[in-house]
Amino acid sequence: MSLAPTSLNILCSLKLRPLTLLELVAFLVQTMKDFAKAFYKSKEWQKCRAAYIKSVGGLCERCLSRGMIVPGYIVHHKCYLTPENIQDTSITLNWDNLEYLCHDCHNNEHFSEKPIRYRILSDGRVELISPP
Ligand SMILES: [Zn+2]
Ligand SMILES: [Zn+2]
Repeated sequence: MSLAPTSLNILCSLKLRPLTLLELVAFLVQTMKDFAKAFYKSKEWQKCRAAYIKSVGGLCERCLSRGMIVPGYIVHHKCYLTPENIQDTSITLNWDNLEYLCHDCHNNEHFSEKPIRYRILSDGRVELISPP
């Protein structure tokens, strides 16, 4: 992955001693998390978010489509935000890319990838157990 120049500058200004691999990874993870912070704090997003929530009546869209009335909790970006698209308002502020979700639906969206499972056969071969 490539580092933004600003990240590199910060990294270089820390040059007290070489970073260990762990420190470098921690730094990169933090940088990745921080990239959207300014966006989430921006007036444009706050306005867009509030108007969108109002437009869907404040309810979780996925639950509603299953006939359940559940208050929403977070405006989710269907196309996830990345350092590459964070400046692209046709993604970040586009209602077509937004979905108002409750806690559960949002967790399912981001953390529902089924773990890949294997089993070891009696002859020592490894077999992939396809997810149900
Ligand atoms: Zn829901
Ligand atoms: Zn999300």
